[in-house]
Amino acid sequence: MTPSEVIQKKRDGGVHTDQEIAYFIRGFLAHEITDYHMSAWLMAVYINGMTPKEVLALTREMRDSGGVLNLSALPGKKVDKHSTGGVGDKTSMIVAPIAAACGVMVPMITGRALGHTGGTLDKLQSIPGFNPLPSPAKVSKILKTAGAVIMGQTDDLAPADRRMYALRDVTATVESIPLITASILGKKLAEQTDGLVIDVKVGSGAFMPTMQKSRDLARSIVDVCRAMKTRIVVVITDMEQPLGRAIGNALEIRECIEFLHGDSPEDLETVSLALAAHMIRLGGRARTMAQASKLAYEAVSKGEAANRFRQIIREQNGDERVIDNLDILPRAKHIENFAATSKGFVTRCDAKLLGLASNALGAGRNKVDDAIDPAVGLYLKKKLGDPVARGETVCEIHWNDEKRLQNALPLIEKALEIKARPGRSRPLIHAVLEG
Ligand code: URA
Repeated sequence: MTPSEVIQKKRDGGVHTDQEIAYFIRGFLAHEITDYHMSAWLMAVYINGMTPKEVLALTREMRDSGGVLNLSALPGKKVDKHSTGGVGDKTSMIVAPIAAACGVMVPMITGRALGHTGGTLDKLQSIPGFNPLPSPAKVSKILKTAGAVIMGQTDDLAPADRRMYALRDVTATVESIPLITASILGKKLAEQTDGLVIDVKVGSGAFMPTMQKSRDLARSIVDVCRAMKTRIVVVITDMEQPLGRAIGNALEIRECIEFLHGDSPEDLETVSLALAAHMIRLGGRARTMAQASKLAYEAVSKGEAANRFRQIIREQNGDERVIDNLDILPRAKHIENFAATSKGFVTRCDAKLLGLASNALGAGRNKVDDAIDPAVGLYLKKKLGDPVARGETVCEIHWNDEKRLQNALPLIEKALEIKARPGRSRPLIHAVLEG
């Protein structure tokens, strides 16, 4: 077998054997198969797809490309949540403390911002001192005391995915159902949790813009987990507009802490409590979704989730005073109000463009090693369907650099539209699949 034979087979629409997939991924890890072989093969997969059996074999190879997170010595069920990526999506930092407060252990491995989407690790690092990469011994200790850890991917966990994802990002091969399935589950299955909740986003700010594609991705994820005997719930949630009001690192942490103190935009509350409830049920702490939702709600209203977040921050060396004093977070030097030029209703609040605008201000990266500005971003005073008067602020722009502001403004202008009549509203939770 040679690399080009494998590439050719997929290029011509063939179906790989498990051996061919193993040969290709293991060869890539061993640097015998080069980045240009892998890039060509990724494009062939992007164009011609994979059968469910191929996706399963690829996921197994990704999972087994490194070590596993061995948490078997810790008692209790472990559940994680992962999202396919969105704008203003800060639910990880809300659901991990809620689930932990309800007795579910949450070993959460999460990523950085890339493209128009935000990254949980970057957001957490706007808390002074926060350590995103605790040692394995420390991870166990954090889980024992706080019940949840939110950390970056170690070098050893699913290394094939890290290298393949970097290639996908620059070869226009991210938006592929087999590749996304294997990428997410390769990492998540290496965590060896008892259950997973995957939030598949749909809409302008998602990698899967249409409902049909999101459903196909959800089905693919459920099928692989079923074959791997891991309990899974996939929730398809809306990403036509950003989730919540804040976009940008420190601004999003602020919104999370406000949430945990009981003050939240409705959409963020609906999605977060639903995801947390699925985690609580998969973690065996409730039999029904109604019971789990009640537990999740109470964890917030009694302040237990906020306390868990405080513990997580403390255990990860962050400044825990942030829970009571949001002024500890970095703040942008300037806030510019983006005002409505006519009266009417917000009919477009495009998540992707607003994500790009926030990145243009400095909140995200174009290249993996770009520095980010934790303070900048956007705060939406109005969202889809909201009435707005002429001259009223639709969005606050938190900025530090004039040139960056000028780059962001046209994107914001294009993202927001006001018309005389409101558009049709979209559901927040489109579907739930379980395996
Ligand atoms: N998130 C991942 O971890 N991988 C993908 O391919 C897409 C989103």
